[in-house]
Amino acid sequence: MYDVAIIGKGPAGISAAINAIARNKSVLMFGRDSKKVMLSPSIHNYPGFVEIKGPELITKLNDHLSSLNITFSSKMVNMVYTMDKYFAIQAETDMFEAKTVILAVGVDFKKSIDGEDKFLGSGVSYCATCDAPLYKGKTVAVVGYNKESIEETRFLSEVCNKVYFVPAINDDFNFNNNVEIVKDMPLRFEGDLSAKKLILKNNEISADGFFVIKDSYPLKTLIPGLDVDGAHVKVNRNMETNIKGLFAAGDVTGKPYQIAKALGEGQVAALSAADYIDNLK
Ligand SMILES: Cc1cc2nc3c(=O)[nH]c(=O)nc-3n(C[C@H](O)[C@H](O)[C@H](O)COP(=O)(O)OP(=O)(O)OC[C@H]3O[C@@H](n4cnc5c(N)ncnc54)[C@H](O)[C@@H]3O)c2cc1C
Repeated sequence: MYDVAIIGKGPAGISAAINAIARNKSVLMFGRDSKKVMLSPSIHNYPGFVEIKGPELITKLNDHLSSLNITFSSKMVNMVYTMDKYFAIQAETDMFEAKTVILAVGVDFKKSIDGEDKFLGSGVSYCATCDAPLYKGKTVAVVGYNKESIEETRFLSEVCNKVYFVPAINDDFNFNNNVEIVKDMPLRFEGDLSAKKLILKNNEISADGFFVIKDSYPLKTLIPGLDVDGAHVKVNRNMETNIKGLFAAGDVTGKPYQIAKALGEGQVAALSAADYIDNLK
């Protein structure tokens, strides 16, 4: 049982981790290097550096993290279950437990495909590693929004009979012969009890299962019962959400989308989480 599980390895999550460790709490951190920071060509508003490039800041942040006693997982968290006085966290096929959770997943305004929520768990999945065995020898389709979706498609092509890959990214795709690349725009899922078809702008794909591989998941799917306002989590000044023991920080709590704001909120969230743990009976 960890004291603090931090979901997100961007500035908000990193600041939360540094401050939780300073309060002598054990920390489990999920996430990959922040794509947003990595893509920042030149940062001019980070105190202490007149100018710093995103990748350079990532290196410095990672150096700081590796000087601390933190457990890392680069797996995507699929679901946080609220238990009595602790949380169970599912990251792909692994389960973890923590007394508190700090949500620092950033913000993603990509619109879900119509029907994605409705069929999630009924023919639509966000995790190939978790659900590929369900589709052994069958036909699946992957909608890929990131580079990881290429790896996931390769993995599925070894388990499934046929894989359709609908990329929303440009890359050199090099797949097994049973992968068919379909360059088209996904519009909606159709089905009855489970998803049966992906309707594209110019085409449609019938399959036994559908994978949507992206960098973040809808907040309501990630944490059932969480109070949200559109793409943002509702928090108070202590970065507390409506769920006791669950805190949020960074872009996910709202504008301005800035590194300094994410760092400050990460610190407040960690200190609030530490107080919460100290007061647990
Ligand atoms: C091109 C560009 C330029 C920018 N320039 C500046 C600038 O000059 N100055 C400035 O202050 N800000 C700038 N920003 C904004 C800044 O990058 C963000 O405000 C900041 O990165 C937000 O930090 P965060 O920690 O909240 O989220 P992010 O940095 O977005 O990190 C989110 C983290 O969550 C993880 N994650 C998400 N979902 C899951 C999940 N389900 N399971 C596990 N992990 C998950 C991701 O892997 C990642 O580690 C820029 C952004 C962009 C895109």
